[in-house]
Amino acid sequence: MNVNQPAPPGVPYGQPQPGYTGYQSSYGGQPGPIIPPSPYGAYNGPMPGYQQLPPPGVPRAPPSSGTPPASTTVRGPSSQSAYGQFGQGDVQNGPSSTVQMQRAPVSQPFVPAPVAPLVNQPAAFQPYGPPPTSAQVTTQMAGMQISGPAGPPPSGLGYGLPPTSMASASGSFQGSNLYGSYPQNLAPPTSLAQAHPGAQTPQCCAPMQASSFPPSAAGGPRPPSIAGPSMPGQSFGGPPVSQSNHASSPPPQTQPPMPGPPGPPPPMHSSQPGYQLQQNGSFGPARGPQPNYGGAYSGAPNFASPPGPPQPPPPKRLDPDSIPSPQLNELPPQQKTRHRIDPDAIPSPIQVIEDDRNNRGSEPFVTGARGQVPPLVTTNFLVKDQGNASPRYIRCTSYNIPCTSDMAKQAQVPLAAVIKPLAKLPPEEAPPYVVDHGESGPVRCNRCKAYMCPFMQFIEGGRRFQCCFCSCVTEVPPQYFQHLDHTGKRVDFYDRPELSLGSYEFLATVDYCKNNKFPRPPAFIFMIDVSYNAVRSGLVRLLCEELKSLLDFLPREGGAEESAIRVGFVTYNKVLHFYNVKSSLAQPQMMVVSDVADMFVPLLDGFLVNVSESRTVITSLLDQIPEMFADTRETETVFAPVIQAGMEALKAAECPGKLFLFHTSLPIAEAPGKLKNRDDRKLLNTDKEKTLFQPQTGFYQSLAKECVAQGCCVDLFLFPNQYVDVATLGVVPYHTGGSIYKYACFQVESDQERFLSDLRRDVQKDVGFDAVMRVRTSTGIRATDFFGAFYMSNTTDVELAGLDGDKTVTVEFKHDDRLSEDSGALIQCALLYTSCAGQRRLRIHNLSLNCCTQLADLYRNCETDTLINYLAKLAYRGVLSSPVKTVRDALISQCAQILACYRKNCASPSSAGQLILPECMKLLPVYLNCVLKSDVLQPGVEVTTDDRAYVRQLVTSMDVAETNVFFYPRLLPLTKVPVESSAEPPAVRASEERLSKGDVYLLENGLNLFLWVGASVQQGVVQSLFSVPSFSQINSGLSALPVLENPLSKRVRDLIDSFRAQRSRYMKLIVVKQEDKLEMLFKHFLVEDKSLSGGASYVDFLCHMHKEIRQLLS
Ligand SMILES: [Zn+2]
Repeated sequence: MNVNQPAPPGVPYGQPQPGYTGYQSSYGGQPGPIIPPSPYGAYNGPMPGYQQLPPPGVPRAPPSSGTPPASTTVRGPSSQSAYGQFGQGDVQNGPSSTVQMQRAPVSQPFVPAPVAPLVNQPAAFQPYGPPPTSAQVTTQMAGMQISGPAGPPPSGLGYGLPPTSMASASGSFQGSNLYGSYPQNLAPPTSLAQAHPGAQTPQCCAPMQASSFPPSAAGGPRPPSIAGPSMPGQSFGGPPVSQSNHASSPPPQTQPPMPGPPGPPPPMHSSQPGYQLQQNGSFGPARGPQPNYGGAYSGAPNFASPPGPPQPPPPKRLDPDSIPSPQLNELPPQQKTRHRIDPDAIPSPIQVIEDDRNNRGSEPFVTGARGQVPPLVTTNFLVKDQGNASPRYIRCTSYNIPCTSDMAKQAQVPLAAVIKPLAKLPPEEAPPYVVDHGESGPVRCNRCKAYMCPFMQFIEGGRRFQCCFCSCVTEVPPQYFQHLDHTGKRVDFYDRPELSLGSYEFLATVDYCKNNKFPRPPAFIFMIDVSYNAVRSGLVRLLCEELKSLLDFLPREGGAEESAIRVGFVTYNKVLHFYNVKSSLAQPQMMVVSDVADMFVPLLDGFLVNVSESRTVITSLLDQIPEMFADTRETETVFAPVIQAGMEALKAAECPGKLFLFHTSLPIAEAPGKLKNRDDRKLLNTDKEKTLFQPQTGFYQSLAKECVAQGCCVDLFLFPNQYVDVATLGVVPYHTGGSIYKYACFQVESDQERFLSDLRRDVQKDVGFDAVMRVRTSTGIRATDFFGAFYMSNTTDVELAGLDGDKTVTVEFKHDDRLSEDSGALIQCALLYTSCAGQRRLRIHNLSLNCCTQLADLYRNCETDTLINYLAKLAYRGVLSSPVKTVRDALISQCAQILACYRKNCASPSSAGQLILPECMKLLPVYLNCVLKSDVLQPGVEVTTDDRAYVRQLVTSMDVAETNVFFYPRLLPLTKVPVESSAEPPAVRASEERLSKGDVYLLENGLNLFLWVGASVQQGVVQSLFSVPSFSQINSGLSALPVLENPLSKRVRDLIDSFRAQRSRYMKLIVVKQEDKLEMLFKHFLVEDKSLSGGASYVDFLCHMHKEIRQLLS
């Protein structure tokens, strides 16, 4: 047989882990030995009419219909008597009387997967577990104006038009293919029992990223590198507040309530008296039986909780770590009774997250069966690849797709996959095996060119295989032939990753290389702005000092001793300076190019060098740069010529690579790509607002295209003191798969930690270059739209000059034919890229999904976090071409249709006053509201144009975990958990009501990190954390906690470290005191509350959604 395969035949390598080790060595990423050319072409062979033949024993999972959905019901006024039955279920309260909420039921049934990945499951096999339990959340919605004739929506809420406009809204949003006609796929409803208060199990999320850093990344051994001459810039710049990523300026003192149309305030909080807090933590009148409590959808058993009062208490959780949240007891009753809807009675993100952790965090997620919904991104779990790609690589909005496009249109649930092809895995999970088929290359389908994967069907004794994507039959190349066993499975099934795993890599042959030449190792070029601002702020000195040591940590492949990456250096202001750092030189040589209109690279030899060979010269250069420009008076900069120069240098060296640009100002110097200041806040909320997100010239688009063709990825570090037009400067990084970092009003003193931390991570991270990604699907659906930071020159290939482990591509699918429940649907993502050592590879991810003819199955297998990721990206792209209000309205409209379709087709008949949400989507309203009131779609006055462009671009590449925490921040109380406990404190909902004056909280959203200190916090706590005797002496705006030797201080600092380790960007801490003016900044992130920019509170928005849904139904 071909290639290094010493693994003993028959070692099952899916199942018992030991089998994997054989692969480790045999496939372990060696540069492939060259095999004698095979005389057999991979793509020949007639294809007789096999297409019609139903593949025998196709490994298919059973169709997923059957498990009835459970629902969440929020009841309207008519069900007053039932109020309170589930009302006490909030996290904050004591033990609840409701049924345990289960997100899991959907997928649990699939888990008892067969030992081998999807082989020959009898079609009749229905591995369903017990039906999901469900509960309804019932609450008072009386007086919320959701019943009765539809009046105009409360005008102050900042959401969209009255429902009449809904239908049309969809058409007007960024082309018809964006909104309106989604392919559909969906998942099931589950039940929403609110409750479980008492049992919050703090499950720590282990830092996932930590392992990917060389030890030095943490900054350990490296001294803070700013010794030396004093930095003139240190005393400049704005207040530290302004450094947070997108809340970058101090909040205004007063703000108009909101930009929306004026009108009477929403009626919500008016006259109706709230319910008194009762002893047991529940609210409202006595509980009574609930009418209308039928099964969740017709024909299904009733999975809702049985009607009537005798609700059994929920199973008490026995987790020793579970710690009841004491919050509620501390809140004055009036705080809890402001709303007519009890906030504790509406779906709580915290509860859903906790429940998923408890239900699914302990078992590994085994990917053998088709269409399994993975645990939530907030749950820590291990993955065992048994034939489908790990959810770390691919997550879908639904794991069960409607069979027809009509069904899909009816449900309006977008069918999309969020793909992170080079995702980092935790150390417990093996990276994809590298398969080497020698010169013949990977085996592929003759027609659609899909790569060999576990779903290909071998026939004729193994001589041919039928493609699982297009049904074409292809001859098996002789060197790849293997006999089949009695089940039709190849006997080498377990020995070959491409037959038994969901994810793996192939070594690519020269056919897969540009110009049919194997690539050269990539190069990194550091391009440093040395204009007045950069020098004055201390940036140049800090950066040069850091690079001296950082260059020792360039990415390496496998166990390589030294990185194959070469480096080069350029400095610039209005002109460019290239440096010759050839190892034979005693001193670096500078060459100036002042003709920026026609950029060329003045030297080839000596520009890109190996770090260890040229170390002395490089060190000398980095020592000299800050001195050379110390007295510069030049304030103007160029920008595009810098990128051109870097790209030309890579072109001359015939290699891919990455440019690291450190830039401070709007490039106004005379040169190609020169920009003008066009920031204009008057455009907000006008039809022209979209121009603020668009680049001001098409020049950068063309430049990006050239960069992609060269495999030149651009990472941009911005240090602006004012508007720099991120929307335009970001075009090239965006289209080349690069990253942008922004440090407004950079000051070495307060920002160096954040900048250096980001820089270290960015330089060290593994990158694939010159990448092309293609997503193939089985017949019936196809990829129609793509979101992310990349370039597309045709409709199918996603081109990425560079791709790292943080970047995701979101792909939308649509029907082009009918799907079948039997065969399901398949996705294969193939990424062709050049590794950091210069090896050309193909990474393949396969995922199989179920297909359904019942809408309920769709709603039962959805994943709201992924849905939100997709919707946010869709909306954030929409603002490029439509007014933000149109975009917001379209989002609301689509979600209302999704929920109305569920209500109409899947939920049991019930009174119109009830809001019934599918279990899997019960958080859709709260999360959607967070997207709607995010800075891009509804900015407060403190948010700058650059901030919005920056965030817009960041979100476009985020994975599901990142968008989840970005839109709904994590808020943890710090002093209520015993300091000895290593567990993470249980989170609380992001609302001011949940804050206790006597506690200290940590809030993070992946970009920002706050420590909020309540005004009545105990003196001892203040002393332990801040080393000052009283609250009033705490320095507001502090960006680091003093290092104190006491358990509380250590614990809080550890927690902050663990938060940072989980995120791809360093989060700078901001200490905020209650009732201090900085608190405004913090409150911006309490996303369940009404926002200053006019965003609705969660409760108000839920009522609004209810109203929209009712209007759709009537
Ligand atoms: Zn095919």
